[in-house]
Formats: sequence, structure tokens, C-alpha cells
Amino acid sequence: MSASRLNLAELDIPEIESALEARGCERFHARQLYRWIYKRAVVDFETMTDLSKDLRARLAADFEVVTPKVVSERRIEAVFIPDTPSMTFCISTQVGCAMGCGFCLTGKMGLVRNLTAGEIAGQVRVLAAATGMLDHRFNIVLMGMGEPLHNYDQTMKALRMLHDEHGLAVSPRRVTLSTVGIVPGLQRLAHEPLMPNLAISLHATTDEQRSELVPPNRKYPLADILETCRRFPLKKRSRITFEYVLLAGVNDSPEDARRLARLLSGIKAKVNLIPLNPAPGIPYERPSDERVDRFAQILADRHLTVSVRKSRGQDIRAACGQLIVEGGVRKSAAQQMASLLQS
Ligand code: SAH
Ligand code: SF4
Repeated sequence: MSASRLNLAELDIPEIESALEARGCERFHARQLYRWIYKRAVVDFETMTDLSKDLRARLAADFEVVTPKVVSERRIEAVFIPDTPSMTFCISTQVGCAMGCGFCLTGKMGLVRNLTAGEIAGQVRVLAAATGMLDHRFNIVLMGMGEPLHNYDQTMKALRMLHDEHGLAVSPRRVTLSTVGIVPGLQRLAHEPLMPNLAISLHATTDEQRSELVPPNRKYPLADILETCRRFPLKKRSRITFEYVLLAGVNDSPEDARRLARLLSGIKAKVNLIPLNPAPGIPYERPSDERVDRFAQILADRHLTVSVRKSRGQDIRAACGQLIVEGGVRKSAAQQMASLLQS
């Protein structure tokens, strides 16, 4: 691949149209190209049979389509969650993360780099092709590595590219963006024409404890985040999900549950409880199932919709908070498919 070739995976349709025009080609080919790249997972111009031979040769000379590959050196990770009733792809927006949450292995890595829009959308492109989902509806959760609002522009561009009707046509209703609550980012998001569902990683009910567990809370405290949520322009029938990682003996008491219910009053909210996925290097433990149930019951008694996240992927270290760059090759094909990686 020559460095001078333009990578179409990073471009939306208007950008491809301009690139074609600049080379004296017809703009409408941009739509055909999108269909090949996103709907048919074809990235080799030679195979794009509805384009003339001449055009294919010209495209191959000037353009390329860089696609995340399954490799042993792991850089970014995307996880495929075979789920009922619909499939969910969990994708990353950064390599590592700068937020430094104390219970999260990705946070321990620090931020290595932002992913580009093409790399973010590319995870979906490859997962959809690998799982035979190109012509089916699936959900996307931005819950892999990274803080999406800390890589705002590339994340939103990726969502626009995935939404394009000539490509995968993913509805924003099927996308959930999970964030620690960077208030200026939330305010920007409130004005997006393509607005994903919102999940806020809350994890604590006092500023003192939240600042400890989720350091960005020092800058954007609970009251500011919750006020922004109260004003957030939600679509009909939609609600904000509040994620709450349960850490044994730290934030899982009945008193915490009651305080959480009070904090969320007046917000169209649902709560997703996530019993900690423990890992070496994480100084917290997972509470017992009884303790989790008790916490959930207190919220339910206060008319909150509660779900408890079943963690998958712990055996392959692909569960929440366990995405981390490490060496070594995974052995089984299933494991390799579960993780899409890019060097
Ligand atoms: N940075 C964003 C999105 C990625 S993290 C965010 O924090 O919201 C996605 C979810 O995984 C978050 O709710 C996060 O708190 C949770 N998580 C992180 N580490 C975890 C762990 N060790 N066990 C369980 N959930 C974890
Ligand atoms: Fe970053 Fe989310 Fe992990 Fe916190 S939980 S360190 S924001 S990836």
C-alpha cells in the first residue's frame, strides 16, 4: 500500500465525491463505492464489477481502503456479543483512555492515541461482515476502549458514515454512546442531528467517592452532569441509561442505592448495574449476587427500571474494563473473531 494513496475508509460520501471530482471522475461513483465497502465488505477495486475497467484501474492507482485486521499484535479491540434478540457490537473509540477510572484496566493504560473515524467505523464494517450481519439489524455500543466524548469529532464522523443510506444505514436509535460525563461534550451532543442513545457511567452517588473512582468528576461534578441530563433533548419514549459498576463494600450498600434513586428523580432514567469484572491490578472486588440483587431491588421499589449486566467475554479477557493492549496470540478461531485488532 503506498502512503500517497487516499484511504477511502476515512471519508464520508461528500468527501469521496470531492476526491473523485478532483481526479476528473463522476461524483455518483461515491455511492457505488460506499455500497461495495460497507454493504458488501469488498475493498478490492478490481472486484467492483459495476464500475468500468478503466475506472477500477484509476481508483486502484489513487485510492485504498484500509480495514482493521485480526492480528496477533493487539492495538484496538472490538467485541462481538452474540445476544438475543439482536446482535450487539461493542467497539472502541481510542487506544487506551485518559480518564483513569480506578476499576478499569483500559484506564490503567492511559491514552495511547485517538482512533480515526475510519478505524471506528471499520470495526463495525469488519464485525458485520465476519458475523454475516451485513444485511441485518444490529446494535452498536461505544463501550470498548476509550472515552467517546474525548474523541468527539472522529466518533461523530464515524456514526455519520455508518448511518449513510448507501452503506450500512445504521439508525442512531441502535447506537449507544457511553461516557463518564464530560459536560461540554454532552452539551454538544445535545445538538447533534444524529443523536445516539446516551449512557452515563455514574458509579457513585457522592462527589467525594465519584472523584475517587472516576477522576474527571473533579472537573465535572455530579450536579453538573445530572443537570445536563435533565435538559438533554430525549426522543419520545427514550431514556438515559445510568451505568453503575458495583464494587464490594465500596458503593454497593442499601444507602448508596437509596441515594442513587434520589439523584435520578426527575430524570427519564434507567439503571444498568454492572457487577465488577475483577482483574489483576484492580484493587476492588465483585459483590455477591445477593448484594447485587438487594441493590437492584431498592431501585426497583423506587420505580426505576433496573437491569444487571451479564458479563461476557471474561474467559477471553474481553469483558467490560478488561480491554487492554497485551502481547500474545489467541488460540481459537472463535476467540480471534471476538476480537478485531489493528496493528
Ligand atoms: N469510557 C466510556 C465507555 C467505555 S467503558 C465509559 O466509561 O462510559 C464502558 C463501561 O464499562 C463503563 O460503564 C465502565 O464503567 C465499565 N467498566 C470499566 N471497567 C469495568 C470493570 N472492571 N468491570 C465492569 N465494568 C467496567
Ligand atoms: Fe476510560 Fe471508561 Fe475505562 Fe473510565 S471506564 S478509564 S472512561 S474506558
